Amino acid sequence: QHKSYIVGNWKMNGTQADIAILKAIADAAGSDSAVDVGICPPSTLIAAFAQAAGGIGIGAQDCHAKASGAHTGCLSATMIKEAGASFSIVGHSERRADQGESDADVAAKAGALHEAGMGAILCVGETLEERDSGNAIAIVTGQLAASLPASTSGDWLSVAYEPVWAIGTGRVPVADDIAAMHAALRATLTDRLGAAGAGVRILYGGSVNPGNAVEILAIPDVGGALVGGASLKAETFLPIIQAAP
Ligand code: 13P
Repeated sequence: QHKSYIVGNWKMNGTQADIAILKAIADAAGSDSAVDVGICPPSTLIAAFAQAAGGIGIGAQDCHAKASGAHTGCLSATMIKEAGASFSIVGHSERRADQGESDADVAAKAGALHEAGMGAILCVGETLEERDSGNAIAIVTGQLAASLPASTSGDWLSVAYEPVWAIGTGRVPVADDIAAMHAALRATLTDRLGAAGAGVRILYGGSVNPGNAVEILAIPDVGGALVGGASLKAETFLPIIQAAP
């Protein structure tokens, strides 16, 4: 059984001055061998954060599927790796919405990370409309099946279930709904990957905070958390790390 995996997604937040926050997190949690901890700062901070990270993994928030070429403003997996990232988030709902990324785009990005010898946290999740339709499980497992790259064996992959309506809203699904979704995602993973699918960590994300982390992280098949707002300060991120079973 894997250790819990607690990852902070800083989104479009953070400047060089915030290395002090990373150091505070690394000092307190970087040597905690019971939990895997990661931070995904904006790409501009990957190199500096990787230097100061101690035992914390530094990741990117996105990468391009291609290795190089005429793609203005984009970064390839090998580029973020060279900067110091060991993994990347792909398919975050904000990128699916703002940049129009499809499941096929996400699968290609995840495949590029695997090829570069990096980890991926592949995000899926339903909108409020989809939740209210009663079909969230079918929709989200379908999203995962279509977002998995062809080469999917091994330890490099994690999945994050992030209901769009829970991100930044203070709203969290009830524990039974999280449990049901994670069980369905696990079934999709073992269906596609066989035994390897049993070892893929499935993180929950969406309004995780120090007050709800213990309950969320205790839900069956929740292998960790992908944390937005509460990861921006050591005072709120450290208690979430400590809440990991
Ligand atoms: P919040 O924790 O701010 O709701 O964000 C969740 C998220 O989108 C992490 O990727």
